Amino acid sequence: MGILNQERKREFDNRAVYAGLEGYVGRWAGQARAEGVAPELIDEVAALLAGYDAKSPEERGRAAARVTARLRKLAPPHLRAEERHELPPPPQPRKRNEATLDSGVEAISGIKEQRARLLAKLGIASVRDLLYHVPHRYIDYSSLKAINQLRLGDEVSIVASVFSVKSRDFGPRRSRVEVMLADATGVIRAAWFNQPWLTTKLRPGMQVVVSGIVGQYLGYLQLNRPEWEPVSNELLHTARLVPLYPLTHGLNQRWLRKVMRTTLTGFVQTLEDPLPAELREEMALPELSWAVANMHFPDTWDVLDRARKRLAFDEFLMLQLGMLQRKRAAQMADSIPLPVDGSWLAEFRAGLPFALTGAQERALSEIFQDLTKPQPMSRLLQGDVGSGKTVVALAAMLAAVAHGKQAALMAPTEILAEQHYRTISRLIESAAGHPFADAKPALLVGSLTEQQKADAQATIASGEVNIVIGTHALIQGRVSFRELALVVVDEQHRFGVAQRAQLSEKGLHPHLLVMSATPIPRTLALTLFADLDVTQIDEMPPGRQAVRTRWFSDDERERLYGFIRKETEEGRQAFVICPVIEESEESDLRSALEEHERLRKVVFPGLRVGLLHGRLSPSEKDQAMRDFAEGKTQVLVATSVVEVGIDVPNATVMMIEDADRFGLAQIHQFRGRVGRGSHESFCALMYGEGDQPETRRKQLEGWLKEGRRLMEMEVDLAEKRLLAVEHERNGFRLAELDLQLRGPGEFFGTRQSGMPDLKVARLSDLRTLERARLAAERLLSQDAALERPGNRALAEALRRFWQQGVPAA
Ligand code: ADP
Ligand code: MG
Repeated sequence: MGILNQERKREFDNRAVYAGLEGYVGRWAGQARAEGVAPELIDEVAALLAGYDAKSPEERGRAAARVTARLRKLAPPHLRAEERHELPPPPQPRKRNEATLDSGVEAISGIKEQRARLLAKLGIASVRDLLYHVPHRYIDYSSLKAINQLRLGDEVSIVASVFSVKSRDFGPRRSRVEVMLADATGVIRAAWFNQPWLTTKLRPGMQVVVSGIVGQYLGYLQLNRPEWEPVSNELLHTARLVPLYPLTHGLNQRWLRKVMRTTLTGFVQTLEDPLPAELREEMALPELSWAVANMHFPDTWDVLDRARKRLAFDEFLMLQLGMLQRKRAAQMADSIPLPVDGSWLAEFRAGLPFALTGAQERALSEIFQDLTKPQPMSRLLQGDVGSGKTVVALAAMLAAVAHGKQAALMAPTEILAEQHYRTISRLIESAAGHPFADAKPALLVGSLTEQQKADAQATIASGEVNIVIGTHALIQGRVSFRELALVVVDEQHRFGVAQRAQLSEKGLHPHLLVMSATPIPRTLALTLFADLDVTQIDEMPPGRQAVRTRWFSDDERERLYGFIRKETEEGRQAFVICPVIEESEESDLRSALEEHERLRKVVFPGLRVGLLHGRLSPSEKDQAMRDFAEGKTQVLVATSVVEVGIDVPNATVMMIEDADRFGLAQIHQFRGRVGRGSHESFCALMYGEGDQPETRRKQLEGWLKEGRRLMEMEVDLAEKRLLAVEHERNGFRLAELDLQLRGPGEFFGTRQSGMPDLKVARLSDLRTLERARLAAERLLSQDAALERPGNRALAEALRRFWQQGVPAA
């Protein structure tokens, strides 16, 4: 029993189990009988521990030692605590049809059709998938705390019984479940928001393990949205670090852990290590099978760390190998060089209504260097919202025109394509210089009539039109260009590796310029865009104002509405961003539809309130946007579709509902939608209740004075993130911070960018990433196609890794 180990650690204070050990023995005996443990043995153990509570620590120690010795004979070797860091025994010869790592999960005893279907929902089809099902966290049962030991800000696990369960509704679909938890030392409240079904799961009297961060509410300590599960004896006596897996409805932790044990025993030794031995030694990494086994059932945090490092290295290595192979392949292709000379550039500058910033000039010179070469440019142009990327892209497009070729600009949405079209047409029309004279822009979007589309396609095919602006449909459709020399892509994260691959699959090797306002930390640039070179515009055009940003709680909502009313009276406009379009059973997030109704009818009856979301048709979206841009609507309720690019200089308020649901970089983007004109602008982040923002802000300021880093501060993650947006105006630093705080998962959907999911690697782990990058470069310089016999397993792992994403070029 793991409990006894804990007792040993606690010097037999009889506190490893809260009711005391004797009570626990009774429960254990019942369980053991159910599991078919020999009754004599159970009786023997019970006898050895009889009277435990009353004994002195020394006596307890002796009793425990006897029980441990007796039980050790019983447990299978790999379950013995002191041997757990070793590998499970080699696989037993399997009967009948030999199962392999690629067999379906039904090959594992205990998994039948129904469970296999549930596992499939988690993306687990094969035995190998199961081995790579990564715990999302671990509970350390050796450091369980008593309730009276909890301190604000601690991350803790407690074992307690559910004392009472209450659900409070405050508003439609906004509710809070409050549970009082008790152990022998005290009580603490745990609260969950908008998960009313918890009242049917958590029942008074139930024993639960709860883990989370200790926060406070109205002066009392409280566990906010902790993780929880029923106490099970199995947990307590098989391991000290217990894995918690991502689950789906119908599966439970306990079952999955058991299955994982079986799977490890049978298969972990058959995993072939893809890393050449020299590389593994040089990088001081453990073997793959060791790492996989210890990722699931680590003995200590240190062991876990080593295991995860190894697996993270693998993922980064595969990523880098794939991307570097793509880059090499791209550089083999031929492109049309598009050099321009100094007088052309001078004329271009003279034709603009403003002087370029130093950063824009630097970007231009890097781009033009690429464009003189006969290999395709692959460049990422990064710059904060409003930094002036469009005009830089226009210069490159005009260079194509100067050579009698065509350029295309692709935007993620029709609204943005049209906005680009208008901006670029205006710049071209108002400029006199020679670089602009031959430019013939055209817009090609899905909402054109068939006839308009046909006309546009004809002029594109003939070359009459030389700057084509549209959505991604441009590359997917049947559009054929006469001679496409340059492609500019706006907002790269919706235009990922997959789309880049599509271009080259069409046999096109145009120069590629990818523009992004999403600040991309170095680690991400090295992964998602490892096949691109990067240019940064790190300077804003003169005269931009900072947007004043503040976190508001729900209770401050009315004040904010009053402020919006005042701004609109002065002729200004406001955005209200909601995380979802429609309300749903599962969540209680504010929805655009609901908020639109409420604001229109109840809050701002005198104002014109517009609505914009992703389910509107392109023309409805466009209309909503146009109405707002032209001032016909004063408040625009929208989902994240407004995230990119939209320009309404008259808008001064950006109100973001459920702000904790958005990425920091995304919030920064929203914030960039205001402050584009001459008026002072504001961004309000809605989250939490009561005086939460005020209290936290005060704490934060105190802590900052003490010189502590935000990362280390004792506030919950969502709060930290909001405070960070309040205090940090630099998009790049925000993005870095977001990565550190949250990990990359949601940073932007890696899925839609054609990138395989990273299961273990954290994009905040720059060191491992850079090591993997170096290793990948070296491996490819020695064996570009990974054909040598020593690299066979590696090549195979690489192929498997990219199966979920875009294959290497
Ligand atoms: P983004 O980088 O977000 O795409 P834009 O290219 O849309 O930014 O530029 C934002 C605004 O700034 C546009 O109205 C543009 O005309 C203007 N702008 C760009 N460069 C300069 C500059 N050097 N000086 C003044 N205004 C500029
Ligand atoms: Mg832009």
